[in-house]
Amino acid sequence: MGLLSERSRYAVNPLEEDDAIAEAMERKGKKIIRLNRGDPAVYFPTPKYIKEAYIEAIAENKTYYTETRGAKELVAAVMGRYRRMYGLDLEEEDIVITSGVSEALYMLSSALLDRDDRVIVFKPYYTQYIPYIGLAGGREYLLDYKENDGWGIDIDELNRHVRKLKHKARIKYMLLTNPNNPTGTVLGRKTLEGIVDLANEHDLLLVSDEIYDEIVFNGARFTSIAQMARGIPYVILNGASKDFDATGFRIGFAIVPGRDKLSKELKAKLADFASVRISANAPAQYAVAEGMNNVVEHNRAIRYMVSEIEERTNFAVKLLDENKELTTVRPRGAYYIFPKIDLKRIGFKDDKEFVDSLLKSECVQITRGSGFGTPGHIRIVSLPPKEILEEAITRLNEFCRRKR
Ligand code: PLP
Repeated sequence: MGLLSERSRYAVNPLEEDDAIAEAMERKGKKIIRLNRGDPAVYFPTPKYIKEAYIEAIAENKTYYTETRGAKELVAAVMGRYRRMYGLDLEEEDIVITSGVSEALYMLSSALLDRDDRVIVFKPYYTQYIPYIGLAGGREYLLDYKENDGWGIDIDELNRHVRKLKHKARIKYMLLTNPNNPTGTVLGRKTLEGIVDLANEHDLLLVSDEIYDEIVFNGARFTSIAQMARGIPYVILNGASKDFDATGFRIGFAIVPGRDKLSKELKAKLADFASVRISANAPAQYAVAEGMNNVVEHNRAIRYMVSEIEERTNFAVKLLDENKELTTVRPRGAYYIFPKIDLKRIGFKDDKEFVDSLLKSECVQITRGSGFGTPGHIRIVSLPPKEILEEAITRLNEFCRRKR
């Protein structure tokens, strides 16, 4: 009998082996341009007022465990933010502060899934959704976002799948990512309305990962599931990593606003999970509370960051459009570009071979679509400054041209 549990095999990041190649190259002195890291704080320093609040919390000796469900200051700040932005009236009990959305995903899957229970996930998906589902014993049921419809959701097709699947397995929840990583899609009101109707019809719990809710551009308007799903059970995941540009603080939260029996049961169980792991990082919680409460400073910071992201993304898309091997849906949120690549035309067997070869030959690191469940694509992070994007994408375009 081996040492490791059977389910531990799900704790893998399929993209890590690609990273190992880049690291080995760097050890040999190669300078790699990385367009693979979705970490805003690498390119935009965390706003000063948030960093100062962190330091102040430490100076004031706020280095203890907080309330297990979250420091009351941060819980109140989350309530204020959701009232202001989405007209949603929350109670303290509706919120659990976690160590990033990552921990919220872990808590949710552990709280909800029994062996072979299904979670509806659309692909391309955020890579880390899959390990959490597997570790909890569940199984993802994968459906496609429609690339030829701007990576939207086909509600009729979804309905057919849910009807069929319901007879074979227990569907515990459906995961949405809005705005989306890796496609940059922002779901419209009509789509969300269709999803809410469907959830209502089939008693399906909706879990909406809205971690990029303030990073929308190119004329898009973001609608939270909170504005559409009143009356049905749903969960919102969000945090400090993206909107507050503080990935390394590791602060996220799960919100369960419903007053129905299922929602009450779930929020109580999430509170149990929070209590089992004791507390999220204390100074970071106080700093994020200030991040949310200081609306003037936040608006200044987020407006600057989003306008830069919009410019950089559109600049990158324009360069990518010069490449005959790529077809790109223009993103309207987050900071990712997810072009389809005509691999056959340039003689590659799959996206991994392409991405590895580009890295070795051009020292440009991007991510393969198969890491998000959608082969034949590449993901490019559009956070770096234009000069870096220009250098990297020019090398990518040249590389494809030479392979033609
Ligand atoms: N959800 C999505 C869609 C993401 O893109 C990311 C990070 O890139 C996360 C969750 C992880 O968030 P956190 O830093 O809060 O754990």
